[in-house]
Amino acid sequence: MRFSHIYIEERALDYPLTGKILSCFEGAEIVKISHYKDIFNRKHQNFSAQEESRKLILAVNDSVRFFKTAPVCQDFDLDRSYYTENAMNCVFDCEYCFLKGMYPGANIVIFVNTEDYDGDVDELLKSGPVHINTSYETDLLALNSFTGLADHWEELALKKRGLTVELRTKSAPSRFTVSPDIIYAFSLSPSEVIGRFEHKTASLERRLDSVRSALEAGATVRLCLDPMIYIPDHKKAYGDLLDRLTDTVDLSKVRDISIGTFRISKDYLKQLRKNSPGSSAVLFPFENEDGYCVYPGELREEMTLYVKERLMDHIDGGKIYVF
Ligand code: SF4
Repeated sequence: MRFSHIYIEERALDYPLTGKILSCFEGAEIVKISHYKDIFNRKHQNFSAQEESRKLILAVNDSVRFFKTAPVCQDFDLDRSYYTENAMNCVFDCEYCFLKGMYPGANIVIFVNTEDYDGDVDELLKSGPVHINTSYETDLLALNSFTGLADHWEELALKKRGLTVELRTKSAPSRFTVSPDIIYAFSLSPSEVIGRFEHKTASLERRLDSVRSALEAGATVRLCLDPMIYIPDHKKAYGDLLDRLTDTVDLSKVRDISIGTFRISKDYLKQLRKNSPGSSAVLFPFENEDGYCVYPGELREEMTLYVKERLMDHIDGGKIYVF
């Protein structure tokens, strides 16, 4: 991975994480800026063009850093489930990614003031145990080689009683920290879906290899067949995925599995369609349900039930969550 330009807020210059990241990209041109929004939120950006050459922006997040998990997201019946925004955007390029509907551009922002996040976690923990999804608006494990942020969250979960962190990814990590409080959540899709829509992500084989390594190491693993993407031969594609999964992974060792079809806020869909032009993943004639664009109910049920029933032959149904 390389970045031709790194934009840095003046106030972010002296943070240790800034130094660490800069040491990984010595050839990059450094541009000092006063606020990340001056670059990240510029009008008339071309998301698709930026994806070909993303720029990195290092900033200080002095705004809200933790958010309650929305009902349409996955809270796994946890009372106190939050997601955090410690990076924005992703090195991968999934055509259906909601970030393309939410953000004005494809550049990646890393917030370097990690100690403020740590302080927020202490505050949250004062009211009881808390589950934090660290990769809601990014893929933190995919950024870990130059940010160390996934490592940071793992260390925090080991140190702070009551804190559980989830690292969701479409990459294929090879190193795992073993703890019930660190959940490696692997997004799995059929090879057809990965090939057509999930550009630059790890192949299904690599993801499954990584799942097996994590389980062999004794790490806590969540599998996410979510979002399931409709393709005309979806039953065969998801059937093949389930064959490969159940043949090669001991699902009894998995913490839980989530299943859910693609859904997106109606406000984001328009922009997403603009930023993924011609993609059949987002051109589907969705139905609007309470402000969210979803597949028609019958199709949703058909897709999720098929997967759930197949999985129930291999894992306790209480460990399967359908969203
Ligand atoms: S891996 Fe996740 S965050 Fe990254 S582009 Fe794909 S859907 Fe978006």
